[in-house]
Amino acid sequence: MKFNYKKREPVLIANRGEIAIRIARTAKMLGFQTVAVFSEADRFSEHVKFCDRAEYIGESEPKNSYLLADKIIAAAKKHGAKYVHPGFGFLSERAHFVEACEKAGLVFVGPTAHSMNVMGDKITARRTVEKLEMPGVPGSPGAIKDANEALDFARKVKLPILLKATAGGGGKGMRRVDTEEEIPAAFEGASREALAAFGDGSMYVEKYILEPHHVEIQVFGDGKGGAIHLGERECSIQRRHQKVWEESPSPILEKFPETRKKMQEAAVRVSREIKYAGAGTFEFIVDGAGDWFFLEMNTRLQVEHPVSEWVTGMDIVELQLLLAAGELELPKQEEIILSGSSIEVRIYAEDPHHFLPAPGKIGKIIQPNGPFLRWDSAYETGPVLQSEVSMFYDPMIAKLSVWGRSRDEAVARMRVALDELSIEAPKTASGEIKGSLKTNVAFLRKLVRCTDAVEGNTTTDLIPRNPSLTTDEISKEVSDETAIALSLLRLTEGSEATVDSGVQGAPVSNWNQRAKWESLR
Ligand code: ADP
Ligand code: ADP
Ligand code: MG
Repeated sequence: MKFNYKKREPVLIANRGEIAIRIARTAKMLGFQTVAVFSEADRFSEHVKFCDRAEYIGESEPKNSYLLADKIIAAAKKHGAKYVHPGFGFLSERAHFVEACEKAGLVFVGPTAHSMNVMGDKITARRTVEKLEMPGVPGSPGAIKDANEALDFARKVKLPILLKATAGGGGKGMRRVDTEEEIPAAFEGASREALAAFGDGSMYVEKYILEPHHVEIQVFGDGKGGAIHLGERECSIQRRHQKVWEESPSPILEKFPETRKKMQEAAVRVSREIKYAGAGTFEFIVDGAGDWFFLEMNTRLQVEHPVSEWVTGMDIVELQLLLAAGELELPKQEEIILSGSSIEVRIYAEDPHHFLPAPGKIGKIIQPNGPFLRWDSAYETGPVLQSEVSMFYDPMIAKLSVWGRSRDEAVARMRVALDELSIEAPKTASGEIKGSLKTNVAFLRKLVRCTDAVEGNTTTDLIPRNPSLTTDEISKEVSDETAIALSLLRLTEGSEATVDSGVQGAPVSNWNQRAKWESLR
């Protein structure tokens, strides 16, 4: 792919946070002017400063700003934008928004409304791909009306089953059921949760795949029947059915190269058949025996796209923007060379005990650096900050990704990076922590030393299988300082600074203090 800089018409980025900045970076590199939109809560946000222009679109709640198609289209018109990039979340998978952009004479950077309709809904998507010989997870052919229907299905496919909200996403409205007795309550609970979250309580049911690995194939289509894949990502390490560690290549597919080949071929075949345009992801469950089942397609850029960029050297947003501008010559499959290994972790403002959001003001961020390391964030770094993780939006603070020649090297690099990283809540003059911010940094430090993660035993229950990740005292600490103080306290008490079973490798950074201490003596 030749690099071609020239002045291009403006692109409006209908999103916020790190993804808005990430898109703007590539847009600027290619010569597009960039237009940001922002809500009340985002007046002083980094993505607004980063773009060439910016337009206020409404109150903080997404439904009064980032979800308002009309406001966003009006902002695009006002600033002379020709393109609209939706990022992920918000309006990125709404066919009506694609149509509204087209009607307004704007180019939506993403798939067509038709592709979204065919692949956007999970049940329709499964029907579409099964016709094209891509195996789906055994499931009910459509929505089920009550718990009795779930029971019938469970008897047919054998327990366990997974109840899922038809309108679901982000791991919400999902219940695993292991016994017949649990079905009525689980059905009702999940349906209620879905109604509250998505305004639609309809449910369907799937067989629960045992020893599940979440593996996805990144594709890119030219909209005319041409498509390539950019390898896979494994995102099995999840909490509450949401990804927290993503990597490429997939540890489970390293054991089953035949499965990998079939999944890649099927993903490219379906993309070609549906004349898919732009970046898309086929999500699969792969079981311990290497059998694979289609879960859903995400018709957008994915949060974890950086790991694919690391192993392919391709900028996925560049592909998206050039396709929208009618300038993309789709690379040939042979030109996509997968090399080395990449891991991304998501850094969240959340309580590491139960993984519920814990947003709040940020006092200080020390950002890691070094070779083959990428930091995607929309929060300023430095010793004294005014930033705040807003309660209105996704509490992700940053994505940290690394590359290594091998997986071991990537893991080692991630360990050092996480040790270097520090995120703290603000402090009072006397050094007390103020505010509500908690982060999963200490949890991630332990995760990157957990035997199952280090060795690539990455089934989706890795976190519950390793209770020491969420239960011991270090993960309880809000700030690193507290944990360091604790380890020093132990030192002076002369107790052994051991790390919980299941956690291996180099010591957790806080324990490194011991080595430092001892070398000083
Ligand atoms: P992905 O499927 O891209 O890996 P998830 O499965 O974690 O992301 O996310 C589920 C839904 O939440 C998707 O609609 C995604 O677009 C949205 N989402 C996830 N993380 C964020 C974020 N940090 N900001 C905005 N939207 C997000
Ligand atoms: P979402 O729209 O929330 O992303 P998905 O259907 O992609 O919903 O499922 C989210 C996660 O739930 C998957 O990554 C996987 O960990 C788990 N999961 C989903 N379906 C199954 C299944 N049939 N068997 C086992 N695990 C599943
Ligand atoms: Mg999914």
